[in-house]
Order: sequence, then C-alpha cells, then structure tokens
Amino acid sequence: MKKARGIAIYGKGGIGKSTVVSNLAAAYSTDEKVMVIGCDPKADTTRTLVGRRIPTILDTIRKNKNASAEDVLFSGYGNVICVESGGPEPGVGCAGRGVIVAMSLLERIGIFEEDLGIIIYDVLGDVVCGGFAVPLREEYAEEVYIVTSGEYMALYAANNISKGIKKLKGRLGGIICNCRGIDREEEMVKEFAERIGSHVVGVIPRSELVQKSEINAQTVLEKFPESEQAQTYRQLAASILNNQKFVVPEPLDVEQFETFFHQFN
Ligand code: ADP
Ligand code: MG
Repeated sequence: MKKARGIAIYGKGGIGKSTVVSNLAAAYSTDEKVMVIGCDPKADTTRTLVGRRIPTILDTIRKNKNASAEDVLFSGYGNVICVESGGPEPGVGCAGRGVIVAMSLLERIGIFEEDLGIIIYDVLGDVVCGGFAVPLREEYAEEVYIVTSGEYMALYAANNISKGIKKLKGRLGGIICNCRGIDREEEMVKEFAERIGSHVVGVIPRSELVQKSEINAQTVLEKFPESEQAQTYRQLAASILNNQKFVVPEPLDVEQFETFFHQFN
C-alpha cells in the first residue's frame, strides 16, 4: 500500500485556508480517496464539504474517551473523509492542544493505515505553537503550502510560519496567493515567495462565488462547477500535485521584512 500524500495548508486566520482546502479536496476527490483534517479551533474547514458543521474530536472525546471512527469521521462531497480537531473553550488552555489530541485519536483508530490517496491538513498559523506544528512533522505532511494575500498581516504571518517550517526542517512547496484586490498584489506575493527561496504555486482571484457557495455550505466546485473560479481551484490542485520545488525556507528578519513591504508603497 502506498503512503498517502500529506499536504498541509498554513496561513493567518481569515486568509482563506479553509476555502482553499475544501475546494482542493473537492478537486482531488474525482481521482483519489481524500481526507481533510481541520486543525483550526474554528472547526469550519469541512463545513462546505459536509454541508453542515460536524462535531469536533475534542468535543466528542470530552463526552466519550473511547470515541470510535464513526464518532469523528464524516463523509462529505465526493466521499471526502472529514475531521475537525476542534479547540478548547475560549480562554481555557492552548488552542493547539486540539491538534495533538486529534492526531493521537486518529492514530488509535488506524485511519493512517487506511488506503488514502491524499490527506490535507488545514492549519491556523498566526503562531506556530507546539500543537499547530504537529502536521509539519514528516510522518504526517511532507509538504507545506502557505496561503497569503498582499496584506501586511497576512505576509507577516506567512513569514512567521516560514520560521516555524525552517526550525522543523519542513518542506515548503510554495505560496498560494489568495487575492484581496490590493494594488500590485500578485507581484508582491511573488517577490515575497522568491525572497524566502520559494515560489507562487497558484493564484486565486477574489470572487463573490466564494460567498455564494459558503451561504449554501458548499464548495465552489460543487455549487458552480462550470465557473472560472472553480477552474482556478482545479488548476491549483494540479499545480500542487505536479509540484517539484520544495525548500527549507529562508524567512526574512524583521528589518528585511519591513524593507520588503515598504518597496510596494
Ligand atoms: P481561514 O480558513 O483562513 O480562516 P476562510 O477560508 O474561512 O479563511 O475565508 C475567510 C473568508 O474569506 C470567508 O468568508 C470566505 O468566504 C472569504 N474568502 C476566502 N477566499 C476568497 C476569495 N478568493 N474570494 C472571495 N472571498 C474569499
Ligand atoms: Mg478556516
């Protein structure tokens, strides 16, 4: 049995990770057995795949320590297997703990021994704390992508995540530019990617079809399969699948980052 390809998607909160992840999963599901593991305490990665919010592993385990596969795995669009790690109640405990608990439960129920083609991790990366770094470990995701726009905070977070990846000697497969509509946005993200030794693996335009799909708890691929936006997600899926460029990133220090950013103002 071949090992599943583990792909981790990192990025600042609200930047568009879950939208990218769910649409990628939908794209891959036509040819592969796919699993999505939502590792954000927001626990909404899989909502557009399943059509509703699913119970999280942390919540389930709180009620039943011996939770089984049926309690935590849910089937979504294209038979994608969907999981949400969940997080602690706000203000109590480390947000990344959910990921650690979730991964050990998934190990226990043997999901990683199943015949899966692709596993996608959706990981919050404002801070790369212990829990959020788990999917970076080689036995899970051997390749990492960072979602960013041209906004200061998004790029700042992307640079920080690169520091975490470097520390863990992770393999950065590229930067995904999820456009916000800023001036010279693509140019800026491309330059950032090159400055840290990587490249832009895909550009996703801003589109109202994303919200229109989200309202129905569907991916763009399901709701608007013929749209150009759906096509850009399929293209991104193909670029990731065929990607050959993996690096240990060289993040910018604070001063370099400021200089880089000011160039575009
Ligand atoms: P994250 O998972 O990083 O927190 P989400 O995927 O939930 O981010 O996206 C945050 C918000 O931005 C959502 O309301 C989503 O609809 C919107 N969004 C994401 N990508 C796009 C896009 N390409 N065009 C328009 N809206 C987008
Ligand atoms: Mg999300």
